[in-house]
Amino acid sequence: MGSKIPEEKLKALIAFHGHWCPGLATGIKISEVVLDELGRTTDEEIVAVAETDNCAVDAIQFLTGCTVGKGNMIVKDLGKSAFSFYRRSDGKSLRIVSRPDAARGGGEEYRTLQEKSNEGALTPEESERFEALRRERSARILESEPESLFIIGEPLVPAPPFAPMKRSVLCDACGESVMETKARLCDGRVLCLACFERLVPRP
Ligand SMILES: [Zn+2]
Ligand SMILES: [Zn+2]
Repeated sequence: MGSKIPEEKLKALIAFHGHWCPGLATGIKISEVVLDELGRTTDEEIVAVAETDNCAVDAIQFLTGCTVGKGNMIVKDLGKSAFSFYRRSDGKSLRIVSRPDAARGGGEEYRTLQEKSNEGALTPEESERFEALRRERSARILESEPESLFIIGEPLVPAPPFAPMKRSVLCDACGESVMETKARLCDGRVLCLACFERLVPRP
């Protein structure tokens, strides 16, 4: 499939993500760089910061072991196809950002169909054509050299601090358990954020 990651693994990734798409292909290429440079993490040894919440994030979680659930994938929805990775043991780090031409990609027809697709306005024929173009584009990304897709440099900010699990407290309004760092104290009552927003009028 044009990647050094075993085909079985890629099939499992596509099943996990739900479809095959250019974003997933981009995430696979990013993961290849990370696996080469930093290795795969099973614990929280490597931490990733994503500056987008797009399809690539799923590939990176699946392939590098940096996952939202473990807390070593921090997703910042900044709308940039950029990802930083930090290895805690020796401080080695890198930031991978899509080249502007690679990020736009696809040519005139692709972009026109993409816009129509975003508006849900594709005819069945256009939809078929768009799918074909997406498959082509995904395959092209997978076969590309990382250097042609990405600018690889140093992260712009230092590694995020460890975020150990915090104690939980009970919300005085709904009775549900909430992490103490996310709770609010209001007129002597402990409130979860949802109750705080519901019960305390904004100034
Ligand atoms: Zn996708
Ligand atoms: Zn509550």
